[in-house]
Amino acid sequence: MALRVPTQKNLLGPLAISVRWILGSLVGTRKPFNPSASVASRVSSLSNLLRWATYNSKPSDVGTRLFKQFHHELKKSANRHGELYHETFRAISLKKGRLLSHATTMAASQQYPLEPFPLLDQLAHEPSRVQVSNVALPTLDRLEATIPAGLDAKSVGSEWFKSFVAAVDKKDASAASELFLEDAFWRDMLSLTWEFRTFQGQKTIAKFLSATLDESGFSKLTLRSDSVVLQPIAPDLAWIQGIFDFKTKVGLGFGIFRLVPTSSGQWKAYMLYTNLEGLKDFPERIGALRDMVPNHGQWPEKRRREINFEDSEPAVIIIGGGQSGLDVAARLKVLGVPTLIVEKNARVGDQWRGRYEALCLHDPVWYDHMPYIPFPPNWPTFTPAPKLADWLEFYAHSMELNIWLSSTVQTVKEVPGKWWSVTVKRGDGTTRTFTPRHVVFAQGFGGGTPITPTYPGMGTFKGKLIHSSLHKSAKDHVGKKVVRIAHDIARDHYEHGVEVTMYQRSSTAVVSGKKGLPILFNGVYWEEPIPTDLADRISASFPNRFLRVLHRRVTNAIAEADKDLLEGLKAKGFRLTFGEDNSGFFPLFWKRGGGYYLDVGASQLIIDGKIKLKSGGQISHFTEESVVFEDGSSLPADVVIFATGYGKPLNLLKEVAGEEVAARTKPIMDLDAEGEANTYWRFSGVEGLYHMMGNLALCRFHSKHLALQIKAKEEGIHGKRYED
Ligand SMILES: Cc1cc2nc3c(=O)[nH]c(=O)nc-3n(C[C@H](O)[C@H](O)[C@H](O)COP(=O)(O)OP(=O)(O)OC[C@H]3O[C@@H](n4cnc5c(N)ncnc54)[C@H](O)[C@@H]3O)c2cc1C
Repeated sequence: MALRVPTQKNLLGPLAISVRWILGSLVGTRKPFNPSASVASRVSSLSNLLRWATYNSKPSDVGTRLFKQFHHELKKSANRHGELYHETFRAISLKKGRLLSHATTMAASQQYPLEPFPLLDQLAHEPSRVQVSNVALPTLDRLEATIPAGLDAKSVGSEWFKSFVAAVDKKDASAASELFLEDAFWRDMLSLTWEFRTFQGQKTIAKFLSATLDESGFSKLTLRSDSVVLQPIAPDLAWIQGIFDFKTKVGLGFGIFRLVPTSSGQWKAYMLYTNLEGLKDFPERIGALRDMVPNHGQWPEKRRREINFEDSEPAVIIIGGGQSGLDVAARLKVLGVPTLIVEKNARVGDQWRGRYEALCLHDPVWYDHMPYIPFPPNWPTFTPAPKLADWLEFYAHSMELNIWLSSTVQTVKEVPGKWWSVTVKRGDGTTRTFTPRHVVFAQGFGGGTPITPTYPGMGTFKGKLIHSSLHKSAKDHVGKKVVRIAHDIARDHYEHGVEVTMYQRSSTAVVSGKKGLPILFNGVYWEEPIPTDLADRISASFPNRFLRVLHRRVTNAIAEADKDLLEGLKAKGFRLTFGEDNSGFFPLFWKRGGGYYLDVGASQLIIDGKIKLKSGGQISHFTEESVVFEDGSSLPADVVIFATGYGKPLNLLKEVAGEEVAARTKPIMDLDAEGEANTYWRFSGVEGLYHMMGNLALCRFHSKHLALQIKAKEEGIHGKRYED
């Protein structure tokens, strides 16, 4: 039986953020397969082959050919790329008894060396701190399994799903969990747990299911049969993926499962994702549910009254009208929840207008769409900051969001179990107190309060000292010597003919926009017609702890692609890191929202000596004309620009709601032990208070989660959070 060739539709499955690196070249050239190429490029070639086949051949013809080719590849990779994989395989095999026994033994079993990444070790300023994660990839070697020739993935996936549905329908948690691998993951976003949870291990999954199967009403699971497909991820990694829909007592859900083979020949789930998509009885008022009533001439007055809340009170107050606040407000709008955004700036988008002229988003346009209104098709790939500012303003108007500009929230007082008393000061000096049931903090990183360190002698320095958030243009510094502590502004200065030195305080993860980013983004968030909503769900379906391990390989593949650039930087003394565990910039983003640079040109200027570099060493003090370092070296400067970040995320909460409420709030930033983002978009520890954060992509996706929690509370249908 020939392998069912992925159709264009079911190829969407592999196009997930976590496997972008492998499938990245799907969108690229159709290179002929080259057996002597590196593993990464051969995997890419394989992907190209799949893609080529998908578009150019009859499915029935190419199925067998593809499958044979894939197997051929697996074999060859195991033999020829022993250096890369063999050590891992061997070590895993040695430990496999423990490794497969139970998830909790995983940490101990990972004492063996990880995949050797000699290039990363060679380039990094310091060796990575390893063994942060205790997850092992479900490689074929570890599973002691193969992909059988002639596999009918659709039938295997459907059969597994049938057994799963039978167990779920019987509310048999034990039978359901037996369909999972010992160290499998189940990630749930609100649908069964009303929380963001990732369970690992068969026993943990069984426990969670016994508590939630009945309570949640998880039912009516329906497989999207076209979605079931074998996904060859890497020479030693493959799974069958399927997508399904389901219902709960109050909600509609979307799920993804991924099955891997076992030594007995049985396929078991390694990952399962369930997501709350909507509330059955409270659909978004979009499409056919939009307002159908003609409004002859009354719209301006209606909007004026709505914006001013002349006849009503908001159920939700959002502090901050940046993209994250606008996203949540838009989601709440279509769910019919009255919402007011309080924004301190005079215009929506001013936080982007106020940033330096040279700023463009570093993420490509496909990753940045906002809910309901995607960017038009001629939008530039990297959005200039002032253009984004205008878009945000347009978005707020188009979605009819209620915003009070030049306004601030003065106090947020709790009326326990009832509501919050929120006093807002408007731009005209008047104040008004509302009693919303929910308050969302969406004030951006650190509330936009810049932090500038102090050093001895700063007072005597004759030049200009500014925080990067206050820097507008390199044109202001023509003819001066500038010391700068990050990339883009340094480039801006070089381009304006200003002598600029970049001071690098600590090691940085660098990914080039040209070669590195496409490995991450191609195929998921790119020009291909993959609906953004589906791309978001596929990305979210990978548990962060799993991604961290997969990203070691991704990071290695990116470093191979960026090798010349990275070697050039290292030769100049630039301190490179590949993150903890060699897992790249992804955990750095979660942990500190920084420590990495998505290169759009400054790196080459450093290599060429056009941007000078002072790397390492702490600043000791300032003299009248210089910055002096602890190693005794100094940099003469007329202008020093600090890119030293912003205040703490909870500062505003403390200021308006007090220390006691802040103390009840769970930790913010970084990931929790299960790999879920701490506090953002989910229960904060304080009923009725929520926190929004993230880049445009994360806010697009998770704003819906936040809005659904609020809507469910408003309608009295929010379930019990699973807390074990
Ligand atoms: C140089 C640079 C490049 C970036 N590149 C990208 C990129 O490529 N892709 C990407 O997704 N992100 C990028 N970001 C990150 C991005 O700015 C933030 O992640 C994102 O803007 C956060 O959105 P936000 O709405 O939470 O916060 P912000 O955009 O900061 O908006 C917060 C809003 O809250 C308002 N506010 C603050 N305090 C109060 C208060 N007390 N009362 C009332 N209003 C208040 C502010 O005026 C502001 O309008 C970049 C950031 C920088 C600095």
